[in-house]
Amino acid sequence: MPNVSYLECSLCAQRFEANKIHNLCPCGGALLVRYHLDAVRQTWSRESLAQSKPDLWRYWPVLPVNRRESVVSLGEGMTPLFETKRLGAAVGAKDLWVKDEGLNPTGSFKARGMTTAISMAREPGITKIAVPSAGNAASAAAAYSAAAGIEAHIFMPMDVPQANFIECKALGAHVTLVNGLISDCAKIVTERKDQEGWFDVSTLKEPYRIEGKKTMGYEVAEQFGWELPDAIFYPTGGGVGLIGMWKAFDELETLGWIGSKRPKMIAVQAAGCQPMVRAFERGDQRAEFWQGASTVAAGLRVPKPLGDTLILNAVRSSNGTAMAVEDADTIDAGIELASLEGMFVAPEGAACIPALRKLLANGFLKASERIVIYNTGSGLKYLETYGERFPRA
Ligand SMILES: *Cc1c(COP(=O)(O)O)cnc(C)c1O
Ligand SMILES: [Zn+2]
Repeated sequence: MPNVSYLECSLCAQRFEANKIHNLCPCGGALLVRYHLDAVRQTWSRESLAQSKPDLWRYWPVLPVNRRESVVSLGEGMTPLFETKRLGAAVGAKDLWVKDEGLNPTGSFKARGMTTAISMAREPGITKIAVPSAGNAASAAAAYSAAAGIEAHIFMPMDVPQANFIECKALGAHVTLVNGLISDCAKIVTERKDQEGWFDVSTLKEPYRIEGKKTMGYEVAEQFGWELPDAIFYPTGGGVGLIGMWKAFDELETLGWIGSKRPKMIAVQAAGCQPMVRAFERGDQRAEFWQGASTVAAGLRVPKPLGDTLILNAVRSSNGTAMAVEDADTIDAGIELASLEGMFVAPEGAACIPALRKLLANGFLKASERIVIYNTGSGLKYLETYGERFPRA
């Protein structure tokens, strides 16, 4: 809403006017939306919020959209936060929770980012968008574009999960499969967008997807009665969810709704693509391109996250850590979680479980701490991967 004050470059702090079409800062930094939080604080309360409808638009005063009519919604957000006692007993954690983002429209938390990005694209009358994607962002972009009557142009790696490909086609998007990685898909969008008149909704190249994703942070605070957990495990590809939650916690503190306590932010990656783990361990400020990226957790196959500095800042200032997991352990964990808790999760979410086991074993986390795993997607998107464990013949 009108509560947006300005946009700020996350690297050089240059300010940009609200209500203009923006991609990156000329310095290459991602833009973050800043709000008049002191004014919001006067008129919005936790009590009034409790009356709002159970989707992410309940956080309207800290979302960027100007007009209610612009909103394209398919019922995203306010996902359940489950206490997973049986999984907890199996791994040795007494206060373990899973926030199930697989229950969002199109089966992943990418719906959160696309509801805000596509709603914002509507305001200046954008009619065509383009996005490079490892899969789930494409599905969400295709769904929200269809609902908004916007033309979607999607570029995905050739080996993207079948579910994402079919979903995008059924949703009426223009789909191109690229012989390469998401970084190659991104290059194509960059090269063609001006000539084609596409608005690029790539991760962090557009300022509003992060605003939708940050609501994962508002929700966990609200669902725990405005007391943040001790640790958050987040499967990190582009890292937007993690960066967004970190931003949300700062906003919540400015609103006076939480104190200064922060969860340890734990970035989980796949062994076959772990640029953030390497940068974290080396003490670097930026990640280096991960050569030959490969993992079944398609959402984690991001060889060089644009928001690398922001991810590292959040992980470090929270006293968290970054950790990589082998694909075989991830799939084992996904099947274990499904059979223990009745939740069939994406490999990205499942990867958090072996990471949790290691951090309990080495004493980084204590059994009594309140721990939340973000399951970012539905297992139903990954039938090829899980199917290898369950041959029919
Ligand atoms: C995109 C995606 C991720 C990575 O998300 P980021 O917030 O960009 O790190 C993780 N899991 C799934 C299922 C995804 O689709
Ligand atoms: Zn800048």
